[in-house]
Amino acid sequence: MLQLLEIAKKFLNEADIKSDGVLVDFTMGNGYDTLYLSELVPSGKVYAFDIQEDAITNTKKRLDENGVTAKVQLIHDSHANAKKYIDTEIDGGMFNLGYLPGGDKSIHTMHESTISAVKDAISILKKGGILVISVYPGHEEGKREGEALIEMLSEYDKRLYWISRFYLVNSPDSPFIITVEKYNK
Ligand code: SAM
Repeated sequence: MLQLLEIAKKFLNEADIKSDGVLVDFTMGNGYDTLYLSELVPSGKVYAFDIQEDAITNTKKRLDENGVTAKVQLIHDSHANAKKYIDTEIDGGMFNLGYLPGGDKSIHTMHESTISAVKDAISILKKGGILVISVYPGHEEGKREGEALIEMLSEYDKRLYWISRFYLVNSPDSPFIITVEKYNK
């Protein structure tokens, strides 16, 4: 059975992202997703954000060990400030919300900054671009984040964006995925 979170990568794999594209990892963590994104755009650029210094250290090590060719900018700041660093449209991005598995569980994404960051990400998304958001409603703030995201995203014009949600019908507290695709027209 396909794990729900593997589906997040499937969406990006299927998107028509050029090798010189621009991608963003809005929640860098230990850098697995940053590495994955950098492999999608080997001659392009990846921005990655995290509020934890350890995330920068661990991700830098992972990228160095894997001979990454894309330009990757690791930014020690909240994803809510992403537009201060990104001066171009983006082809796509990932938000893997919550806390770092094996890390300090008191450091996790928060609905206000997540909402602000997702709105900003949509505002710089290219036509044909895609954002993939993994939500973890199994903890209190994750539930709030999920609800706030659904409420906010339901307001976007369906003629401009295809916004979908994938979840387990028989396990409502399991992680779920939201995708935001901007129509290419
Ligand atoms: N993508 C990561 C990986 O591949 O290892 C896993 C991400 S982990 C589930 C969530 C991360 O979001 C944590 O490392 C946490 O520090 C980070 N985070 C929390 N609030 C943030 C914020 N406002 N801006 C950027 N990152 C944040």
